[in-house]
Amino acid sequence: MREIAPELWLLDGTPKDNRNVYVAGDVLIDAGMNFDKGRILKQIEGRSITAHALTHAHVDHYGASHAICDQLGLPLWCGTLDVEAVEEGKNVGRGGRKLPGPHKHKVSKAIGEGDEVAGFTVLDVPGHSPGHVAYWRESDRTLICGDVMWGYNPFTLRGGIREPFPAFSPDANRNRESARRLAALEPAVVAFGHGAPCTDPAVFAAAVAKLG
Ligand SMILES: [Zn+2]
Ligand SMILES: [Zn+2]
Repeated sequence: MREIAPELWLLDGTPKDNRNVYVAGDVLIDAGMNFDKGRILKQIEGRSITAHALTHAHVDHYGASHAICDQLGLPLWCGTLDVEAVEEGKNVGRGGRKLPGPHKHKVSKAIGEGDEVAGFTVLDVPGHSPGHVAYWRESDRTLICGDVMWGYNPFTLRGGIREPFPAFSPDANRNRESARRLAALEPAVVAFGHGAPCTDPAVFAAAVAKLG
């Protein structure tokens, strides 16, 4: 894994930076697909991890959460309006249809606007999922933005910063509002759910401005 900001690490994976999992201080943020369990456990082995938090309840972000929380005895935290989806193993972005696999897990704590996680402040940024949250550290302007914006197209592995496909967001307009809110923070580092981190605030701002 590599440190992309103080006390914030991005785990290695294949393809590189495709299904991003972070360690912020002693908190694991997101957990990829269920088959990402092995690479996550291997990379965090020996580290002190005390909790697992999500950006949102999509299968490519909490696929391995159940297995990892069980194995390491971690409490699972996520945004209030995504709790039900996580506990039922649903993918809220696509009409709430049930997904196969061992995804469902009891949420220990619902988090929302103003809560603190590993030195980051929780921001409610709904749209791509109802309970989507971002993590913001004002002191060095570091933002973990989940899927409010993508660093690239995660299917073609190409292109610049863009919004997620509107079909994946139950409320794409609301997600654009959330993106504008995040851009207004002028983050120095943006850590995406998909794609390499952005360290040029102008590039992030321009991508959001293009959304109209
Ligand atoms: Zn998503
Ligand atoms: Zn995603």
